[in-house]
Amino acid sequence: MWVRKRIDIGWSDLGAGMLHALRPFDRKAAGRGLERAWSEADDALACLSVRSGFDLLLGTLDLPPGSEVLVSAVTIPDMVRIIREHGLVPVPVDVDIESMAPKLERIQAAVTPATRAILVAHLCGGRFPIGPVVELAERHGLLLLEDCAQAFAGPGYRGDPAADVSMFSFGPIKTATSLAGALLRVRDPELLGRMRTRQAAYPVQSRAYYFRRLWKYTAMKVGAMRPVLAGIVAYWKLRGWDPDRMINGTARGFPGPAFFSMIRKQPSAPLLALMRRRLRRFNTDRLARRTARGEFLVKYLDGRVTCPGTRTRPHTHWVFPVLADNPDEVIAALAGAGFDATQGQSMCVVDPPPDRPELEPAEARLMLAKTVYLPFYPEMPEKPFRRMIDLMLEELVPASVSAVGPGVEPAPAYASSTYPSR
Ligand SMILES: *Cc1c(COP(=O)(O)O)cnc(C)c1O
Repeated sequence: MWVRKRIDIGWSDLGAGMLHALRPFDRKAAGRGLERAWSEADDALACLSVRSGFDLLLGTLDLPPGSEVLVSAVTIPDMVRIIREHGLVPVPVDVDIESMAPKLERIQAAVTPATRAILVAHLCGGRFPIGPVVELAERHGLLLLEDCAQAFAGPGYRGDPAADVSMFSFGPIKTATSLAGALLRVRDPELLGRMRTRQAAYPVQSRAYYFRRLWKYTAMKVGAMRPVLAGIVAYWKLRGWDPDRMINGTARGFPGPAFFSMIRKQPSAPLLALMRRRLRRFNTDRLARRTARGEFLVKYLDGRVTCPGTRTRPHTHWVFPVLADNPDEVIAALAGAGFDATQGQSMCVVDPPPDRPELEPAEARLMLAKTVYLPFYPEMPEKPFRRMIDLMLEELVPASVSAVGPGVEPAPAYASSTYPSR
């Protein structure tokens, strides 16, 4: 079977991480070194995860209860949970399917006097130019927060200087992962100083915990080797368990109700050291191969299949989603041929506040319901890759993305003109 996702970390990185975990060294110096490597402007902050950094930010900002935070309508559920935890109201902004960028006219429509911030996400590995959002944020006096968790493209890109905060994740499924960790840039030095002070009062995540994590993902990397995996899946099925649950269960970072006490921790010394190593030795080759394959596929499918998010450039194709009117059939057919495509369970659509149903993000909802993520990574050889694409094209009924359904306004035309590529 071709698994849906490969963990983007080498054996030598895992080994180096374990050595770091065994060898005591100065955590503060490691953190400073990493932050300086990320930004010469002294505006970087290393955190345990993007969710930790975002929670830290909202805790430090201490906005009045009931303040509204506009959010790209497609994100991971924890980001929304964190907004709510701070007594704030998440307000969705529908996204344009082809760029995954928030629609400007929907930002306008969602702003109220209670709006204090806007959180935009660059999704799937693409990155939309945030210029027009910057203008809107300035006009309405909003803090602009940029979620770049899916957009890491090597140390050359560290967020848009016009955003107030840019957040990059090095969690397990992300590009150049350290199995945890995040790097933020916070442009206001005063705010950054207060965030540092607040984070310094957190307990430090233990080396032992990180060591176990390294082992766990080493085991998973072994488990993702094709012959080994075949054995595991066969065993799992024999027991009558759903393999989908196994894979999604292992990919979750902070499960269960202890969520907030788990994210409110400082990164351990070995985690900081591994993040530093991964930046220093960033594998441009793997990313280039992934990007090239994505670009090939975009061209190949052009006019036949809608591929969400592919309108933006640059794009590194962190994942490759396609839209189908019959996602279950496509997934079943691909599974039959050994390709582990999935609808994905990690992303969600942000619900509008109950008193503002007109903000329902219909296009995002439609998109997520029809999304199929193909197994997509440069390690899959050309031959099975082409077989997978051909099989998909045979099975897939292209999604009619403009048919939003009764009772809902049709989605406005794609905002390609409002998001000129740079
Ligand atoms: C992965 C992800 C996050 C969370 O990153 P962590 O570092 O795991 O907390 C946030 N937003 C998006 C869009 C993500 O894909």
